[in-house]
Amino acid sequence: MLLRLDHIGIAVQSVNDALGFFETALGMKLDHIALEEGGRTAVAFLPIGDAEVELVEPKDTDSGLAKFLAKRGEGIHHLCFEVDDIHAMLAQLKAHGAQLIDETPRVNASGMQYAFIHPKSAHGALIELYQKPNQP
Ligand code: ZN
Repeated sequence: MLLRLDHIGIAVQSVNDALGFFETALGMKLDHIALEEGGRTAVAFLPIGDAEVELVEPKDTDSGLAKFLAKRGEGIHHLCFEVDDIHAMLAQLKAHGAQLIDETPRVNASGMQYAFIHPKSAHGALIELYQKPNQP
């Protein structure tokens, strides 16, 4: 089951350049910047209410994110929903014929499970699902 919108990911060429708008001009508060995906992506976390904007910058040239930027330029890259049971959600999606990028969840550095649904099945939107590590 979906619980809430967790974050919106915005693909940027440079996190530092983008902070000039999102932090300085727009007035969002930067929580922190982290290297994710084994150093392949720099992410700036900007909490707002109980959700976040994440500025995502590729640090390589062959990731899906790097290809997205090369092809489509900067802009909204994905939406992420928090779920209570990511395995059940992936099974539900599969049962409805949705195409998944991750058939089984990946786990990030902080122990959070996440998986992406293919935009072909979501009317052009890349959707990420994540489950907090402390959920049963
Ligand atoms: Zn994300």
